Amino acid sequence: MNERLNQLIVEPGTEIFTEGDFGDCAYIVERGSVEVSIGRGADRMVLSRRQAGEVFGEVAIIDSGPRTATVTALEPCELLMINAEQLHRRLDDCDPILRMCLHVLIDRFRDMIRSRLVESSRISTDLVVGLSKEQHQTSYEQVVGALRLEHELAEAIREEDFELHYQPMIDLANGCIAGFEALVRWRHRERGLIPPMLFIPAAETSGLIAPLGRWCLREACHAQRRFVGALPDGHPSKDSLFISVNVTSRDLADDQFVPFIDSLLEDSGIAPHNLKLEITETLLMQDPEIACETLNRCRVKGLSIAIDDFGTGYSSLSYLHRFPIDTLKIDRSFVAAMAGDETNREIIRTIIGLGRQLNKPVVAEGIEDRGQAAAIREMGATYGQGYYFSKPCDESNAASLLRHWDTDFLHRPDLMVRTG
Ligand code: C2E
Ligand code: CA
Ligand code: CA
Repeated sequence: MNERLNQLIVEPGTEIFTEGDFGDCAYIVERGSVEVSIGRGADRMVLSRRQAGEVFGEVAIIDSGPRTATVTALEPCELLMINAEQLHRRLDDCDPILRMCLHVLIDRFRDMIRSRLVESSRISTDLVVGLSKEQHQTSYEQVVGALRLEHELAEAIREEDFELHYQPMIDLANGCIAGFEALVRWRHRERGLIPPMLFIPAAETSGLIAPLGRWCLREACHAQRRFVGALPDGHPSKDSLFISVNVTSRDLADDQFVPFIDSLLEDSGIAPHNLKLEITETLLMQDPEIACETLNRCRVKGLSIAIDDFGTGYSSLSYLHRFPIDTLKIDRSFVAAMAGDETNREIIRTIIGLGRQLNKPVVAEGIEDRGQAAAIREMGATYGQGYYFSKPCDESNAASLLRHWDTDFLHRPDLMVRTG
């Protein structure tokens, strides 16, 4: 056997592993073919052959059990190894339901082999071990939790048990509320308001993000119409107040998304330039071609596109030219770490400079105090957002914030002194 890196080169007749061995890797056959068998001597039984492009040895490494069969090279073979650590890193990240199904399949596979072996009483059943009780218990609890959450979420979507909260974005040049970001909350019947980070991931893996995302977009556009409808004529935000809605890569991959936007613009009467879609750079890069096409189609209709959490994901800036992006939103982690950390201040300055050069407005999010607000304004960001100005609030509080904002804000002279 010749092993280098993750490749194994074996001669015909070599036993790559034997029944009962500890299994710590699986193999992809790159060249040649192998034979999978159980039993020994006269009782030996060939189960299958694997050739180029096929995998073997995967069963034992999924649940770290012993090998259930012997694999022998039939000709000179080149094999690529997948080690247990490589697989487990992926399994740990995968959806618990998928993980449970994998374990159940393997259990059944082992049961099937066990009954065949016991029948012919060739090999001790000790060789065939299923999942430990502990492993079962962990995945069972995770799966039950995930399924319950999905069922409840589906029910909540049917019943529209959600509400949007609105957080103002302040135009740092004149102090006005330029727009709101819409942030969803689940109004759970027993648990009260649940923040998005506790259910958006489940909505994404289950596919429920599609109806939820549409509900949010529809609700946000209608709220924008109600906000401006309640403002007196001549109010500075009457024509320009925008609403920014978070979307995911799944939304953008849906071929019904653009037709939905068409009907939304028509039903709500919102001006397209007052609707912004926010997507994180990480999500954007999950399926860049489709995302780019959908965003382009939205932009042609007049919508604007903001890159959320800018600076935290994809490190290449080349996509700024490739994607139809209008606005950069600096992630709040940079703003939070600004005090006493010159590197973070430099990152913020660089992003603001980049926005200026590309002629794209820059939003700094997560502004929590007066010092951060003044510094961000001085660096030249276009908009500021954060608890210092206002926490996200329900529609009626957002409407009253909008009506009374100018006077409130003008009492903060530290922000109104333009320093360059
Ligand atoms: P995000 O888009 O980065 O939204 C900003 C989050 O930062 C919001 O949390 C907001 O409440 C919080 N925030 C705002 N100002 C401050 C501040 O000064 N300090 C701190 N520490 N936090 C601040 P929220 O509402 O819990 O939303 C969390 C995330 O959930 C959002 O992050 C967004 O990724 C996602 N999300 C929210 N609503 C929706 C939605 O309708 N659709 C989708 N797909 N995702 C959503
Ligand atoms: Ca956002
Ligand atoms: Ca953000």
